Amino acid sequence: MSESRAMPSGCHRGIDAGAYVLRALSDEESRFYVTHLAECDHCRAEVDDLRLVVDTLPIAAPQTPPPAALRRRIMAVVDAEAELLLAAGPAADRLSAPQAPRRRRLPAALANPWRSALAGALACALLGVGVVGGLIMEGSGAEQTKTLAAWATGPAKAQLTQTGDSASLQLSDMPSPPEGRVYQVWFDRGDGQLHPTRTLFNVRSDGRAKVAIEESVAGVERILVTAEKSGGALAPSTDPVITATPA
Ligand SMILES: [Zn+2]
Repeated sequence: MSESRAMPSGCHRGIDAGAYVLRALSDEESRFYVTHLAECDHCRAEVDDLRLVVDTLPIAAPQTPPPAALRRRIMAVVDAEAELLLAAGPAADRLSAPQAPRRRRLPAALANPWRSALAGALACALLGVGVVGGLIMEGSGAEQTKTLAAWATGPAKAQLTQTGDSASLQLSDMPSPPEGRVYQVWFDRGDGQLHPTRTLFNVRSDGRAKVAIEESVAGVERILVTAEKSGGALAPSTDPVITATPA
């Protein structure tokens, strides 16, 4: 077994870049890695690459707070895989140079899979941050986000997604409501009347909005949006600008 732990593409400590960017390293590990970054071009480039992904994806996707359970689940998988790899590795994991305290030692051959797991965790975490239509979480019990409807009304484009019992609307190119008015979401439950919801919203200057619908959409046949006076109304006073029929 070679004493060198260099990965084909550079420094063996490149495997820590993902954990570092995800802030998954302990304070001690993180400090050590920062010191290492000062002297390692490879790891700096690695961190830069990963950071680019971390920094740009949340811009591309509307943001909602990631569920704590999702993060716990992801980190549990990462930890479990790291443990497995550690357990598999000691014989093939000889080092000559003194190393940082409590650093994980992974055989070079296993470093890439471990890193892949981290990259996967990173991707999942980012998806968790930006809950967009089509997000798919594997495993039973995981909350799945599915697209219920996607449509265009005039220039406005809208998508209705559902996670568990709660739904959200993503809108783009949506005109602002008339002066002094806000948009309000209504439910048609098939009983011949429109039920007001507490969900009121406005759109950003670029015509975008991401609206978490507070009420459960279970059993709702249509979801409508009207422009109402600030504070909302008990019965719609204008024609709907959006009518969504969940699939
Ligand atoms: Zn390095």
